[in-house]
Amino acid sequence: MLLTLTTTHRPATDLGHLLVKHPDRVQSFDLPAGAAHVLYPEADEARCTAALLVEVDPLKLGGGRRRQAATPDSFTLGQYVNDRPYAASSLLSSALAKVFRSALRGESRDRPELAATAIPLEVRVPVLRCRGGADLAVRVFGPLGWAVAATPIPLDEAYPEWGDSRYVDLTLTGTLRLADALNHLYVLLPVLDDAKHYWVAPDEVDKLLRAGAGWLADHPERGLITRRYLAHRRALAGTALARLAELRLTDEPPADDSVEGGPATGDGAGSAPSAETPRASLAVRRREAVLTALRASGASRVLDLGCGGGALLAALVADRRFTEVVGTDVSSQALTLAARRLRLDRLPERQRDRIRLWQSALTYRDDRLRGYDAAVLMEVVEHLDPPRLPALEDAVFGHARPGTVMVTTPNVEYNVRYEGLGAGRFRHADHRFEWTRAEFAAWVERVATTYGYTATISGIGDHDPEVGAPTQLAVLTSTETGTRKEETTR
Ligand code: SAH
Repeated sequence: MLLTLTTTHRPATDLGHLLVKHPDRVQSFDLPAGAAHVLYPEADEARCTAALLVEVDPLKLGGGRRRQAATPDSFTLGQYVNDRPYAASSLLSSALAKVFRSALRGESRDRPELAATAIPLEVRVPVLRCRGGADLAVRVFGPLGWAVAATPIPLDEAYPEWGDSRYVDLTLTGTLRLADALNHLYVLLPVLDDAKHYWVAPDEVDKLLRAGAGWLADHPERGLITRRYLAHRRALAGTALARLAELRLTDEPPADDSVEGGPATGDGAGSAPSAETPRASLAVRRREAVLTALRASGASRVLDLGCGGGALLAALVADRRFTEVVGTDVSSQALTLAARRLRLDRLPERQRDRIRLWQSALTYRDDRLRGYDAAVLMEVVEHLDPPRLPALEDAVFGHARPGTVMVTTPNVEYNVRYEGLGAGRFRHADHRFEWTRAEFAAWVERVATTYGYTATISGIGDHDPEVGAPTQLAVLTSTETGTRKEETTR
């Protein structure tokens, strides 16, 4: 099986640096089920192509419970005679992960800036088994910024009346970071093939979320991708979808995740209905808890700091007691999503005047943020490197000084209740830390004492007698400007 990767970014031979494979050499690697070779059919200044060729020994695929998954054709000979040596599949994806490990992580010793830059790329997989047809390839790669050409391969060219096979010739063209491209392929090739060659263990959820960081949570086909990637194991898919729901920048009603696209090919693996709905409610409960605390504080001019895609902003705008609603974020993409969600361009002027969206980094003092009644830091502090936290404390509690501050953050003790979240792992690929209840309480107390606030701490979500609630909430009230707050909270 074969995959080629071409760039026309100049000098194109830098592709060799990004992949850490020299264009002048053929390099080979052992795999559990065969061997992988990397070679460059073309490599010059203007255009460079790396080819990953994977040789599979079908006999090495057999053995124990793996056999079932290894050979989609469940007849005895199918163990020896099958498409695995030729068609791209999860074997190609494992080879990709092994051979291009640092590139997949976006790391490059020699060309770190190029690794972080979107470059013109063309990916070709000449034979890909695609359960669901060429159309499904378009649906999974298209939303990620790829132009997709997927041509069905006829069953037998001599007998066109036999129609098309289950294989497509796939070409993807786009301008992307190489690491993103590789992560898309790593996840989506086995998803299209829909037959994993290895046993799917709970740590596959972590692998999926790591490889899917930044693109899977908001992908319209995330339900299908997740279920197929996790080999239709319902409990794992449910866990993964619940965690993805937490990561979404936008949370419109979930797309209908329970519908598999394309014609069923009858190999038995039907899709389970999504378990997303009941779990997604933690995000909703968090929002409700923050709104309740805001209303109780009597605030009318409020800041949502690190507002992300604007889910809380939408709820604030819907309540007329909030006369001014400001969303800030360091990410312009987040602000664009928020503006779209709020339909800013279509709001009547009077409504629009209540809303402001500002790009602002929480680690710098920003005069625009001074003098508000309340500020929300919902699921934000854990996105900062711990050494940057004092800068946030100064900017928010020292400089902006809102009357009330609501802070929510995960309770790391609760993570043991998430099946599939490996020990020591965080809920979100971008979390720099997650606190225990004691750690959060200590931080809140220190900030309150330093900046003149009083604090109460509570939990959001189902309370577990041993490990507490999944989310922690602190409400800090300034002792300086306490009059109105004292009236309402006594
Ligand atoms: N509050 C939103 C989003 C949480 S995700 C919600 O609960 O849904 C964390 C957000 O914090 C992201 O949108 C990220 O862009 C933002 N963020 C991270 N570091 C930041 C910083 N230093 N300054 C401002 N925003 C930051």
